[in-house]
Amino acid sequence: MGTINVSRKYTLAQKIYLYYIIKGMLINLKRFFRGLFLQENWTIQYPEQRREYSQRFRGAHFISVDKNKTENCTACFLCETVCPAECIHIIAEERPEDENTYGVWKEKKPASFDIDLLRCCFCGFCEEACPKDAIKLSRDYEMSVATRDEAIFDLNHLKREVKGRG
Ligand code: SF4
Ligand code: SF4
Repeated sequence: MGTINVSRKYTLAQKIYLYYIIKGMLINLKRFFRGLFLQENWTIQYPEQRREYSQRFRGAHFISVDKNKTENCTACFLCETVCPAECIHIIAEERPEDENTYGVWKEKKPASFDIDLLRCCFCGFCEEACPKDAIKLSRDYEMSVATRDEAIFDLNHLKREVKGRG
């Protein structure tokens, strides 16, 4: 396999950094004085204030459920297969008959369904691939966690009754 040389030549100003340090400080100073005298705010008082995100924003995943609270997922593995980050892990099992009381017959169900959000790049491929409209990306952007384990969303965490994108 060949290699790509990504090295490049730096100018003297780039080598001694000084020019760029001063340039950065001047930008900060400009922002500081504009905020002070012109009341231009570059930050918001989160969480009291929130930014408006685009309707196309892709946030935390969820698995939609039907009126019977049964997840629409049929454990077909399409989302897991298409995921470029390989962050979806599904274990399938047969769905008991009493879980098919509403709607279309679903032969299989996920015994477990995990998404590792630390690996996910929120491309939305899983949502596009799903034939059951089961996995969706919400507009929820509050996904901070304290440990790596908490970033793995399981089925209980993912199941949600929704209208639209939620
Ligand atoms: S949004 Fe993309 S990277 Fe994230 S789970 Fe879905 S397919 Fe994988
Ligand atoms: S979420 Fe959709 S694509 Fe993924 S396994 Fe379930 S039914 Fe298949």
